[in-house]
Amino acid sequence: MERTLSIIKPDGVSKRLIGEVIKRFEKNDLRIVAMKMVHLSKKEAEGFYAVHSERPFFDSLTNFMSSGPIVVMVLEGKGAIKKNRELMGATNYKEAKPGTIRHEFASSIEQNIVHGSDSPETASTEIAYFLNALEIFDY
Ligand code: ATP
Ligand code: MG
Repeated sequence: MERTLSIIKPDGVSKRLIGEVIKRFEKNDLRIVAMKMVHLSKKEAEGFYAVHSERPFFDSLTNFMSSGPIVVMVLEGKGAIKKNRELMGATNYKEAKPGTIRHEFASSIEQNIVHGSDSPETASTEIAYFLNALEIFDY
């Protein structure tokens, strides 16, 4: 079993895609073992995306990520990190495969509906950024 962090970004929430995204996870054997809605401050968004702090899109990305509420989830399942990223599709929605979340719903490279951890190391840091042990459940 593996765990990964998923975020429905502010564009996904405002486009009313929470149910659509969750449905895809549950249908694909990704169990939601933690979930909450959060509105990040600019500083908190900068902390989350600190690895990208030198990138030209950092300021815009962190403004976007702090522009409205997000839904943060921990997904658990066999190969959860890779499976989640397959369901999401490529970062650039124009390159994302048909049927993926980003291909279907994203509107720009930045506003691409979902985030997913990209390795076991980032998954554990990202999960710890949002949730403590008492907020993650076994069922
Ligand atoms: P995420 O980390 O959100 O799951 P990702 O791993 O597919 O996405 P990263 O390279 O980690 O992509 O970039 C993080 C986020 O920064 C992207 O999801 C997107 O919102 C934004 N981003 C990435 N590249 C660009 C770009 N060239 N221009 C604008 N925004 C970008
Ligand atoms: Mg990433």
